Order: sequence, then structure tokens, then C-alpha cells
Amino acid sequence: MLLRSTERGLYCEAGDFYIDPWLPVDRAVITHAHGDHARWGSRAYLGSREGERVMRTRLGADARIRAVEFGETVMLNGVRISLHPAGHILGSAQVRVEHGGEVWVVSGDYKTEADPTCTPFEPVRCHTFVTESTFGLPIYRWVPDAEVFAGINAWWRSNAEAGRASLLFGYALGKAQRLLAGVDPSIGPIYAHGAVERLNLDYRAGGVPLPETRNPAAAPKGTQFGGCLVVAPPSAAGTPWMRRFGAGSTAFASGWMRVRGQRRRRSVDRGFVLSDHVDWPSLLGAVQATGAECVWVTHGYREPVVRWLREHGLQAQSVASRWEGESDEADVLPEDAASPASAPVAETEREAE
Ligand SMILES: [Zn+2]
Ligand SMILES: [Zn+2]
Repeated sequence: MLLRSTERGLYCEAGDFYIDPWLPVDRAVITHAHGDHARWGSRAYLGSREGERVMRTRLGADARIRAVEFGETVMLNGVRISLHPAGHILGSAQVRVEHGGEVWVVSGDYKTEADPTCTPFEPVRCHTFVTESTFGLPIYRWVPDAEVFAGINAWWRSNAEAGRASLLFGYALGKAQRLLAGVDPSIGPIYAHGAVERLNLDYRAGGVPLPETRNPAAAPKGTQFGGCLVVAPPSAAGTPWMRRFGAGSTAFASGWMRVRGQRRRRSVDRGFVLSDHVDWPSLLGAVQATGAECVWVTHGYREPVVRWLREHGLQAQSVASRWEGESDEADVLPEDAASPASAPVAETEREAE
């Protein structure tokens, strides 16, 4: 087998490298910069050029990162490696590994719908496909973005008309920028939490157009926030940082909002179903598009996906990961004191399994 599951993560013995290892290793190939995939402490990293800035923000300025273009080939001990867009967040990549005529593709996290903040997902043919399954249950079906954003804009507009602030929570890396790119900035001023703004800089530097965002901490004394939109990580909810906005309306944008009761459990007024992962039909479609006969399912609801694939004639197996059921996009910017790792999110997601 070209790859195997080890206590440090997926390992390629022939090439002597790991993919998204959760412990420090000599050589790590990274699918994307979320905290459960890009871990600090490895000696050398390989990642996509598109994701280089956000990876540096997450891994630190001293991390040894080799950035390659999508589709560019890198040879490691005779093993051919290339990265291909995963459509999940800026720079997210699938890893294609080829050796002795055998081809494996590791998806990392991915989605197949268009997203203006990253290069779209590209199906890659392979013998074995390692797929995530964060939302691998038939209940998870997304509605088109245009519909979701029409809902978000209508909510913001009606709050603005009532003189209230709109407080919109989304993961600091990826989701927050997708929200910013999708809202209608003509409704009012937009403020971003520091953890979001730090990554906005990386997105803008990478050529992703985002509307103008302001820093609430830099707002002159006496600023009225009624009518504005505030984009913040979930971990900022209920913290003193929020006080300046007064009694605004709160909302959370996440795939988890698809499940009844989640909105109430997170104590927000509105839930918008917006995910950066594949839903059930797109997951099955993506597997089919690879032409793979063998599928490894990891990172989420593994069993239902494995069962479905086996029933449809594929060799499928469940592969445990260290992050099973944990908050995938936990806000882990170490320098951001206002947003510690978001424990309530992790809790909820573990229970949801
Ligand atoms: Zn992710
Ligand atoms: Zn993940």
C-alpha cells in the first residue's frame, strides 16, 4: 500500500513523508491551513502556493514551507507528488501521490460548489481516494449559495432598518472570508474581529476581493454600531469584546445549522446553513468522479459513507483520525487572546456524531 495510517497520521513509506500529520515529523505535505490539518512543529512542509500566506500565518514565520503551484510535480524518493484544488478554503489542496503505477488521492477537506474565495475543486482520477466525511449523512444537503446570501442580506437589512447591529459568527479562516465576499456591502458598514481581519489581509494579498472591513477597536469613542454587520469567530460570542455592539441580532453560519436545535444550543437568533465541506450527494458524486475502486473514509461520519459505498460495489474502509468529531475549523490563532480554541463548538460537534 502506498499510504498507511499511523499514530502520526497518513504516511507514505516509499516517499518517507506524512500528509497532514498531527505530530511533528521530518516532512509534512499539508492539504490546508486549518488547525486540524496544519500542525506546528514539523521540520519541513510542502503546501500550495495559493495557501502559502495563510499557512505562514498559522505555522509561524520560521516554518520551512515549500510552496508549489497546483498541478506541479514534486519527486520525493521516486514518489511523484502533486497538489490539486480542493475548493474548501484559500489554498486548500488534494494530494495526489503516484508510485509504481499506483495512484492515491487524499482529499483533505473539500467542497464542490463554486466559492469566490478559492480555486474550485477539481476531480482527480485515482485508484484509491481518501475522502473526508465531516457531513457524511444523507440529511446534509446544502442549498445554493445565492439563496443563503439572500437570507443573510435580508436579515442584515431588517436589523439595519431597526437600528440594530448584525453579529455574524463564522470560522475565522475560510468561512469568514466567504461570508464577506457574499454579503451586500451597500447595506451598511462592515466590521471584522481581529482574528478574521488577520486572515482577511492574507486573502486580499492573495488577490481575493473582499469588501472594506473596519476594526471596531479603532472606532472613535461614541461610534454607533446600529446597522453595521460584524463578522467574528464563534469563540467571540458572549465575550466582553461583543459588548460595544449593544443588543444586536446574532447569527451563526455553518453546515451544522442544518440540524434542528443547533441554533438554540448556540444561543443565536438565526442559523444560516453554509458549509465549506461536501454535502452527502456531492461527496458520493466526488468519489464517483475519481474512478477509484478503493475508498478510505476519514474525518467525520465515516460509517454511513463506508456502508453506502460498499453497497454500491466499492471497496471502502473507515480510517480513524485524531480529530474525529472535533471542531474542524476551530479558531486556533495563537496570538488572538480574544478567541481561545472554541470548546463549545467542539462539544456540539462531538455530540452530533
Ligand atoms: Zn478544513
Ligand atoms: Zn478538517
